[in-house]
Amino acid sequence: MPGQYNLLETPIEYLKGVGPSRAETLKKELEIFTFGDLLMHIPFRYVDRTKIYKVREVNPLSQYVQLKGILKDIDVAGDKHKKRMIANLVDETGSIELVWFAGVKWMKESLVEGKEYIVFGKPTVFGKKMNIVHPDITSTEDEKKSPAGILQPFYPSTEKLKAKSLDSRGISKLTRTLFQQVAPSDLKEIIPQNILEKFRLPSRYDSFQQVHFPSNEYELERARQRLKFEELFFIQLKLLQVKIGRKESSVGFVFNKVGDFFNRFYKEKLPFALTDAQKKVIKEIRSDLVSGKQMNRLLQGDVGSGKTVVALSVILLALDNGMQSCFMVPTEILAQQHFQSIKELVEGLGINISLLTSSTKTKERKKIHEGILSGEIHLLIGTHSLIEDTVQFKNLGLVIIDEQHRFGVEQRGKMWTKNNNPPHILVMTATPIPRTLAMTLYGDLDVSVIDELPPGRKPIKTVHYDDSARMRVFGFMREQIMKDRQIYVVYPLIEESEKLDYKYLMDGFESISREFPLPQFAVSIVHGKMKNEDRDFEMRRFIKRETQIMIATTVIEVGVNIPNASVMVIESAERFGLSQLHQLRGRVGRGADQSYCVLMTERKLNQVARKRMQTMVETTDGFKIAEVDMELRGPGDLEGTQQSGILNLRIADLVHDKKILLAARTEAEIILEKDDHLQLPEHQSLATFLLNQQQRKGGWSKIS
Ligand code: ADP
Ligand code: MG
Repeated sequence: MPGQYNLLETPIEYLKGVGPSRAETLKKELEIFTFGDLLMHIPFRYVDRTKIYKVREVNPLSQYVQLKGILKDIDVAGDKHKKRMIANLVDETGSIELVWFAGVKWMKESLVEGKEYIVFGKPTVFGKKMNIVHPDITSTEDEKKSPAGILQPFYPSTEKLKAKSLDSRGISKLTRTLFQQVAPSDLKEIIPQNILEKFRLPSRYDSFQQVHFPSNEYELERARQRLKFEELFFIQLKLLQVKIGRKESSVGFVFNKVGDFFNRFYKEKLPFALTDAQKKVIKEIRSDLVSGKQMNRLLQGDVGSGKTVVALSVILLALDNGMQSCFMVPTEILAQQHFQSIKELVEGLGINISLLTSSTKTKERKKIHEGILSGEIHLLIGTHSLIEDTVQFKNLGLVIIDEQHRFGVEQRGKMWTKNNNPPHILVMTATPIPRTLAMTLYGDLDVSVIDELPPGRKPIKTVHYDDSARMRVFGFMREQIMKDRQIYVVYPLIEESEKLDYKYLMDGFESISREFPLPQFAVSIVHGKMKNEDRDFEMRRFIKRETQIMIATTVIEVGVNIPNASVMVIESAERFGLSQLHQLRGRVGRGADQSYCVLMTERKLNQVARKRMQTMVETTDGFKIAEVDMELRGPGDLEGTQQSGILNLRIADLVHDKKILLAARTEAEIILEKDDHLQLPEHQSLATFLLNQQQRKGGWSKIS
């Protein structure tokens, strides 16, 4: 409530034990500005301090252990810049080495030889010896003075904070001081009572108390569940409100006519029957188009699932209702391909289609600008160039954005302004996103999924080899070329190691050209450093089957459709992420022939890389792959999620807390269904909390 003093908003420098200098560092390093922020700084781990191990019990497989013994043999070694301190901790069963690389001076001054200490850390093997690097160390005497509790919390900290004695223990002390001042009335309940009861969640105050000072594992777990629920629940409430608000405020064009363009296309043109999944999705889209509200829909479908023809159907509906469409894609090659294939598909229907990319010549560009402004052009296909302000439509009714994750959110937003009323927006992605993540990332969009591939596709066979099998792979390639198939060989290209990567790519090109010499064979190469014209030239040679092998960096990743190419060899596959591997593999398997994907890696792989290869070999299901990817990398690293910021979760985690997320989403939906503006008295605290959160963060609206 305005004007009312809120303890949790007190600036952090006013907490006893903080002061201006530490406050500065807390702000900079952890974004802790207020008492409330400190409360929200939640431990990432807890350790049972009741168990004390003997040195003899410690082995290389031990996780964190707590030891008690006498400190001996303190020794500082190394020069000024690379100092380290070593000491031994000795108990009645043996001795273990402790090592510090940082804070040596302070350590040396504060530790006393011959005194008894309690040490906590994770043992590592170094040579033949075991040691503990940067252990948590307290004298038995001090420990008695301020016991850490049974379950000791570990807080995230940083080197700079540690230098100001704000390591985990230091932060814990502050939290203790803070909690002495916090009363239940400062942490009023914000989740409706019926929900708390339904899921047996503890109160807000109790939960914060338990996560900072757990009384036992059971209570701690309950507290964590509650705070996770709270976090996810408010995100979902917010997202769903954005969605509701948008639906209310935007007037959408009504496409209620199904006319000649649409009907003739299906009767005369479409060379195959739609899959049930495609039909279902078109139906979902059509219901948006007649709703009178602006459509904002995400269409997810694995590579090759046939999203293009769905998009085309919607374009035809727009035309039947007298409106223009545009189709935006991330690369020039893809734009050309869509342009070609759509032109062929609608040949003779009298649809005027143009292509606009950065390489469109000025004269042509001018003509296109005029054509769309006059309405003469019905469909404009292109790259980022479509966003430019000079691109003005007469009557834009529909925007389709392919491979959505390649575009920023702002770019999506920009397309809204291309007409007085915002056009309908359909974004498409072939990067399957686990449902939980989609719910959070695209929680404000409606989602349709094509979960079925067109019939007759043979699953791609995937194998994993190391370099020693190279000759065999060449043999296999030759065999496939003899069957008139074409082959992609893809090399990684990562900015940081760009030079090396190019060398590697060119070496590969040379050795493959040697192995597959002219005139019997011809090899193409495309990469990002080539001029657009040259790249297109090479691409076209391959499409026309003048070359049998296409060597490329990941420029071919997106969307390219060459049905006769049936083998994908991925070099240094361990350097690609799972979703990228899946995208690459999706370039083959588009024709009727059996297709293959060959993953080439080094012999020695780390566990994560091995798991990636294994997953690729075992499944072609994009959603399964996305799930594994998320487990291996954490959601924050998935493609397309970085810029959103939504995933800076404090306590919940989308991989492990799926159930909580689903429950939170459902409860948020139930509430908004009954009270879409949170105006009922029982929802007052929700509304206020959301508002406060928004004012503090100020950034939620960014995501839509
Ligand atoms: P993506 O979803 O990856 O964009 P495309 O739209 O490029 O997939 O479709 C891949 C291929 O499948 C194209 O050659 C397309 O003509 C074909 N295709 C799409 N739908 C069907 C269908 N229902 N039956 C048969 N082939 C289809
Ligand atoms: Mg596509």
